[in-house]
Amino acid sequence: MSLLQKTCVIIKPDGVGKKVVGKIIDRFESEGFTLQAMRMVRPTRELMEGFYAEHKGKSFFEPFIRFVTSGPLVVMVWEGDDAIARVRKILGATNSPEAAPGTLRKSWGTDNRRNLVHGSDSPASAVREIAYFFSDQEHGPYDPNAWEKAG
Ligand code: ADP
Ligand code: MG
Repeated sequence: MSLLQKTCVIIKPDGVGKKVVGKIIDRFESEGFTLQAMRMVRPTRELMEGFYAEHKGKSFFEPFIRFVTSGPLVVMVWEGDDAIARVRKILGATNSPEAAPGTLRKSWGTDNRRNLVHGSDSPASAVREIAYFFSDQEHGPYDPNAWEKAG
């Protein structure tokens, strides 16, 4: 049994800098996910320290925050069957060189820190992360086929 889920995906500054935003979005569309919300964000330290609060105090935190605030992000909400686990699988393992062939991180990530994309790791994380960036109205449901019925 599959579950219709929403998940928060963030293209990190390396993905924007490498000009693979389109390729990343294309991958999620090709896999059948529906784009629910999307915005480019110029991140502050405060914004990203709050988003990644669970990692505060870890040895990688400071260089990681410098990296993730080094340029614009593209923040998105994607919806689909079992979206949380399926998106994580498409991203690949945290350490890019160790990610499975065909994953986004294997294709365009650099290392443990500069790994291209974020994806929510659980239903609770998804709810928190989506609300962190979008109002309820901004990620609300819509009919992707409505344009056909509009005549
Ligand atoms: P994931 O994004 O795969 O869920 P984590 O939640 O463990 O990974 O970590 C959040 C982000 O912090 C990672 O995506 C990565 O950019 C960075 N990070 C995690 N572990 C390390 C590490 N050991 N060294 C450097 N950066 C790290
Ligand atoms: Mg994580």
